[in-house]
Parts: sequence; C-alpha cells; structure tokens
Amino acid sequence: MTKTNLEFKTEVKQLLDLMIHSLYSHKEIFLRELISNASDAIDRARYESLTNSSILEGEGEWKIKIIADKEAGTLTVSDNGIGMTKDEIIQALGTIAHSGTKEFIAALQSREVKDNPELIGQFGVGFYSSFMAADKVTVISRKAGVGTKNGVRWESAADGFYTIEETEKDTRGTDVILNLKADEKKYLEEWEIRGVIKKYSDYIEHPVVMEIEREKDSELKKGEKVRIREEERLNSGKAIWLKDRAQITPEEYNEFYKHVSHDFTDPSKVIHFKAEGTSEFTALLYIPSRMPFDIYYKDYKIGPALYVKKVQIMDHCEDLIPLYLRFIKGVVDSSDLPLNVSREILQKNRQVEIINKNITKKVLDSLADMKKNEYEKYQQFYREFGRILKEGIHFDHARKEMIADLLLFQSTQKDGEAFTTLQEYAGSMKEGQEDIYYITGASRDEALKSPYLETFRDKGYEVLIMLDEVDDIVMSNLHEYKGKKIKSVVKGDIKLDKADEMAKEAGKKLETLIALIKEQLKDEVKDVRLSGRLKETACCLVADEGGMDPQLEKLLKSMGQNIPENKRILEINPAHPIFEAMNRIFEKDQKSAALSEYINLLYGQALLLEGSKPKDPAAFASAVTRLMVKDAARD
Ligand code: ADP
Repeated sequence: MTKTNLEFKTEVKQLLDLMIHSLYSHKEIFLRELISNASDAIDRARYESLTNSSILEGEGEWKIKIIADKEAGTLTVSDNGIGMTKDEIIQALGTIAHSGTKEFIAALQSREVKDNPELIGQFGVGFYSSFMAADKVTVISRKAGVGTKNGVRWESAADGFYTIEETEKDTRGTDVILNLKADEKKYLEEWEIRGVIKKYSDYIEHPVVMEIEREKDSELKKGEKVRIREEERLNSGKAIWLKDRAQITPEEYNEFYKHVSHDFTDPSKVIHFKAEGTSEFTALLYIPSRMPFDIYYKDYKIGPALYVKKVQIMDHCEDLIPLYLRFIKGVVDSSDLPLNVSREILQKNRQVEIINKNITKKVLDSLADMKKNEYEKYQQFYREFGRILKEGIHFDHARKEMIADLLLFQSTQKDGEAFTTLQEYAGSMKEGQEDIYYITGASRDEALKSPYLETFRDKGYEVLIMLDEVDDIVMSNLHEYKGKKIKSVVKGDIKLDKADEMAKEAGKKLETLIALIKEQLKDEVKDVRLSGRLKETACCLVADEGGMDPQLEKLLKSMGQNIPENKRILEINPAHPIFEAMNRIFEKDQKSAALSEYINLLYGQALLLEGSKPKDPAAFASAVTRLMVKDAARD
C-alpha cells in the first residue's frame, strides 16, 4: 500500500503554529473536542442507520472509548461512528472548512485571543487542538458500511505535512491516537481523564468508556485479591434539558451552553421550558452574552439542535426559530416528530411550525421580562443583538407591536449612549406634538449636528437617533406606535404647528424667486418649497413621505445596487436673510449671474448637509473662494 506525503493548506499551518506555540492554558480542551467529534460521528451514523441499517455491520451499540497506554505514551479516542473515506479525511483534516478562514486566523492572532486563550473555544478549532498536547497524531478511520479493506491512516507531526495511506480496519469508525508530548503525559492518568470528561463532556449522550484496572475479591480462592480490567462509563450522559429545572445548577446550565454553542463565555439568559398540549416538546435555549464571531458568515449555522425523544436529528435546525432570533442557541427535543424526519419534511411540518411559534413567544416574553426586571443586562443584550432583533419588525408582522416594545433608542434628549424606549418617548411627548420623530445618521454626532433638527430642538421635541443601516426600513415598517405616526425628520412635509403659517406669509413674498430656483434646479430636485423644520440653516434637502432615506440610499449604492434616480425636495427657510438678499437682486435683475451662482451654492450646501457631495465639488469650491475674495476686498 502506498503512502502519500501531502502538505497542509496555509491556513492550517498557521493554525497549527498557533496551537503549538501560542496557546498554553486550557490544553485539556483537546479531549472535549475529540469526544465531541466522536459523538457527532455517532449521531450521523445513527441517523443514517435509520434508513440504511447495513451500515451498522451488525453492531449497534454506540460507544466512545478512551485508551490510555502508558508504555507507548499514547492516548486514543475511538468511536464506532460514521468514519471517513480517504477523500473525506483529506478534506476534513487537511483544510479548515470555514468560509471566514482569514478572519478566523486573524482573530486567533489577535491580542484578545492570545491573552485569553480560552476564547479559542468559540472558534470550534476542534481536531487541531490535539496538537496542543501531542507531538504526533495518527487517525485511523473507516467509513461505516464500506468493507474492512477500505480503511485509511492519516498521520502528522504538525511540521507542515501529513501522510495518508490505505489500511485495513475491522470496525467502522475512527481512532484518534495522540502521541503525547513529554510534559503532557498527565493525560494518561485515570483521575485526570475522569476530571476532564466530567467537566466538559458529562452530558454527551453516548457512553464514554475506559478500561479501568481494579482489585477485586477472587471468586476462586477465598480471601485472595485479583486485579481485573473492566470497562467503566465516565460520563453520566443525562440529557440535561429533560431534567427538572430545580435540579440543574447554574454551572451545569453554563457548561452545557458552552458545549452546544462553542462559546466560552457564560450565556446572558437561560430559557428552559416544557410545552404540552398541541405539541409536546422541551426546549433549553440560551441568549449568548456576545455576538457569535461568525454570525455574519454565510455558513453560520442557525437554530437550536433538534432531538426527537433524546435522539439527535440535526445539530442546527433553522426551521425552529425565526431568522431575527438567529443568535439563540440550544436544544429542542420533540416527542411528536418521527425519528427519520428529513430537512425537506421539516420545512413544511406543522409540529415544527407550532414549536417555532411557541419558542418565538417564549423568547420575546423572556426579553420583555429582562427589560423590565434586569434593565442593565437588557441594555447589554440590546447593544449586541438589537440590530438583529429589529429585523423582526419587518419580517414578523404579527408580533410587530411586541417587538416594538423591545426596541431601545438613542435620542436627542438622552446623554451619550443612554437609551430610551417608545413607551418612554410616547409618555413624555410635548403638548401639541402628534407624531414620533426619528433621524438616521452614520454617527450620533453627525445626527446631532443635522440642520433637520433645528426646529425640533427649538420646540423641545425629542427625536430618536438611529444609527443602524436597517433602521429606515425598520421604522417605515413600524409606521406607528400606539396610534402615533412615526416620521423621519428628513422625509415628507413636516408641519410642526401654527408657526408654519407665519413662515408661509413670509414665503409669499418669495414666490417668484422660488419659481426661478425651481426652474434652475429642475434637473436636480423634484420641488422647491418652504420649510417647517429649519431655524438657522438656509435650506435642506428632504425625501418624499414614501421616498428613500439618504443613509439607506448610500448604503444600497455602496453595495452596488442599482437605485432608481430619486430626486429630493429642496426646502428653504423663508426667515433666513439670504432669501431677502436674493429677492432684492431678483427684483432688480432676474437674469443676474450672481443670483444663478447663489442658487447653485445653496443647492451644493444642502447636499453637504445631508452627507452627500456637491455635484461638481471643484466648481463649488471655486464659487465659495470667489465669494471670500469679494468679501475680503470689502474690508
Ligand atoms: P468541526 O468538528 O468543528 O467541524 P474539526 O476540526 O474538529 O472541526 O473536524 C473537522 C471535520 O473532521 C469534522 O467536521 C468531521 O467531518 C471530521 N471528523 C473529525 N473527527 C471525526 C470523527 N471522529 N469521525 C468522523 N469524522 C470526523
């Protein structure tokens, strides 16, 4: 049989290098990772065997076996799971099957992770963590159901290369054999292995066994002792989610969270409940305390694990939760679904739909409760996940109100990053104020400086400050809250009160000038009208009531989307002295070149104020300098 020497992909080399040279603490997690892989492999074999029993090869007792060989200095984790073919092993153990590999390596090299090596747990580095404790690793595997001659042997000393050769293997599944480093031999000790397994892998459903040598009374000769070796189970395998809540300690909850989420930080909230009635299921769900690092990757796995009567069907089932709760981790165990349920069936299954509804309600209720009773913690949650939760306003019409009550906002009336809510806003609206107002922006500072806020500030009206890209869509979808309209300060005709009428009076005098501005800018703007929102600033651009928010338009454009030409409305402030001055020129000479230049300059300024660029920045700059020269010459 030929032995082939192959080179690791660059990212694997980098990862191995980090494993070996940078990470010193929590080395024992390698055992957790190997047992977890073995358990996954058994889950897959068991699932496949439901429809194809031949892969059992007549042997269906699932088991993960630990073998500590002190003489050879090796620790073996052996499973009778699905196993790997040669191609699969090259793919699985020669590359990192991660779409965000670059970010992943960068994160591993970051200070934060180097200083807190326990953080690597969140990346699911899995198999490669073996090299923290071993200087050579051998994997002998055979795919279930393929015949004993088709085994494969993989070996590497993490020196950039690995070898692959065909081999015979009697039993299906995988043996991972670690040649332990000289100073890591403690992992051959029974008490050490017991301790690590108890700590990290107790709830692994399949038996994790080890042969233990002990003294026993001899059955042949009375009074004499004999030494025997016996297989002993080291994990309890209790499905924690089926236990009574009162019997589970916070530590147990947290440890299980780390197991299902690959996160090393404790979760922010545990939601554990049993549903009875139209659907019988148990859910143990977690809200993480931090954003999972891979949540924006395209292969981020959404949804809790799905079990049917304690048997794992899949490790992530996205049909169990709405997308806007995709940060939720955990387990759902149903008593109603058939064991051999497939992904296709799940998507249309009524039971799954009921579970999804139930979970959604339970999670939203828990969040409402957290907001009411643990506001600090809720704010922390919102800073991490608010952006995702908000999507629910758009996608889950039935629960719009409920989600609206969970939203937090920065506002013009709150300092710094402090939040307000729609309830609070509605409760402190000024006499005469009818609508709820918001402004979008790239930063709080930018939003606060916006001229669009002038009149609102003047009147003491609160304006919500929204900084996420999705906000304009979210708020348009929300449309109203408890009968009050929600309006963007940059959109539509804002009528604040009677003071507008006075402005209109002043504006009457400007009607012909406005007509001229409209004519000159007819290719740029849809309309020119008097503004109810400006106090100090001469003019600004606003979108139509149903038009697109400039922040959103910029975002979509930057994503390369083809946005239809979306002309805005130029609003002018009739109380500003510039219009009186322009009107004087206008009355003398309607064709004045200066007047035409002023109109262009005003439009350029309005563009700057909404965060866009003047159409011709060079012409804009030279016009401004011309005015400066003229002004300076007067002194
Ligand atoms: P992860 O488990 O996060 O996918 P690993 O590096 O631990 O990452 O493993 C990579 C892949 O190798 C697994 O996805 C699986 O396909 C395969 N693998 C690892 N261990 C086993 C095993 N004991 N049996 C079968 N396949 C395995």
